[in-house]
Formats: sequence, structure tokens, C-alpha cells
Amino acid sequence: MRLPDSLPIVTVTEGLLGENNTWYAQGGIAAAVGPDDDPNLHLQDTVAAGAGLVDIDAARVMAERGPFAVRWLLKQGTDFDLAGHVLALDHEAAHSRRGTLHAGGDATGAEIERALIALLRSRKHITILEETIAVDIARTEFSAAGA
Ligand SMILES: Cc1cc2nc3c(=O)[nH]c(=O)nc-3n(C[C@H](O)[C@H](O)[C@H](O)COP(=O)(O)OP(=O)(O)OC[C@H]3O[C@@H](n4cnc5c(N)ncnc54)[C@H](O)[C@@H]3O)c2cc1C
Repeated sequence: MRLPDSLPIVTVTEGLLGENNTWYAQGGIAAAVGPDDDPNLHLQDTVAAGAGLVDIDAARVMAERGPFAVRWLLKQGTDFDLAGHVLALDHEAAHSRRGTLHAGGDATGAEIERALIALLRSRKHITILEETIAVDIARTEFSAAGA
């Protein structure tokens, strides 16, 4: 959705829009957005909670990019729960700081999905194909050329 409007884009989804894991996520979305939090701490907590199974490079990208992603979702109209005039941040799971956002209480994923689907439908250069499965990525030597 961040690709320029000048590019024709086709997005495919195996089921209907909104039939995915994101819709069902209830426990909130965690990112280092609190005043006393920082991505390095978020990374350390993630690695510690992962009991040796964490891909550290992937976790680092998530910890560092998470705050930007949350701000981007807010900009797209995701209605996260507030405490007064600021984002309500809960303390969840293995995080050592309060940094978990919810929407509609336990409807976090559904609210993210609602905002993203509205954005997707508003973009005239994006064609949506539901109940369509991508079976392979066509590649050139260095890049993807299609699906
Ligand atoms: C019940 C439940 C509760 C959860 N709670 C939380 C939570 O509280 N907090 C949290 O952070 N995480 C939670 N998770 C995990 C979280 O939902 C997922 O990690 C996240 O939604 C993954 O997002 P995604 O965009 O990668 O995948 P998805 O949201 O699953 O989207 C993938 C999409 O790709 C489509 N697709 C896949 N392959 C193809 C193909 N070959 N062709 C066409 N379409 C295809 C699928 O149909 C789907 O629409 C929960 C998951 C579940 C199931």
C-alpha cells in the first residue's frame, strides 16, 4: 500500500478479505512506543522469551521497525484504545515495559484489518482478487518478476 499510485497492483488472497490470522489477533500488538521503552530492550525481551528459538536478525527488524509500523497504522486510521488523550499501553507477556496496544479491548487484529481493508479498497490502482491462490513467484536472476 506504500507503492506509488502510478503502479498497477494486484493483490491476491486465498480466502475472502479479512479471512486471515490478523483478524483473530486479540492479545494486542507490542512495540517500543512507551516513553521509557526502547527497541533494544524490546529485542532483549523477545530473545529471552523465545527460549533459543528466535531468529535474532528478524527479531531486530521487528523491534526496530515496530514503533514506525504502529505510527503508520495510526496514520491509516487504526483506532487503538486510549487512556485519556494518549495511547493505552498495557504490560503483557515477557515485556519489561508497558508497550502493548489494544483496539476495542480484544478486537485488535480486527480493527487493524478494518483500517487496512478500507485503505486497500480506496486505492483505485489496486485490484483485489479474492479466493485466488498464488502458486509460484516468477524470478529473474536477481529479483521477482511476477507471480
Ligand atoms: C487466534 C489468534 C490470536 C492471535 N493473537 C495475537 C496477538 O494478540 N498478538 C499478536 O501479535 N499476534 C497474535 N496472533 C498472531 C498474528 O495474528 C499473526 O502473527 C499475524 O496476523 C500474521 O500476519 P500476516 O499478515 O503475516 O498473516 P495473515 O494475517 O494470516 O495474512 C496472510 C494472508 O495471506 C493469504 N495467503 C497466504 N498464502 C497465500 C497464497 N499462496 N495465495 C494467496 N493468498 C495467500 C492468506 O489467505 C491471508 O489472507 C494471533 C493469531 C491467532 C490465530
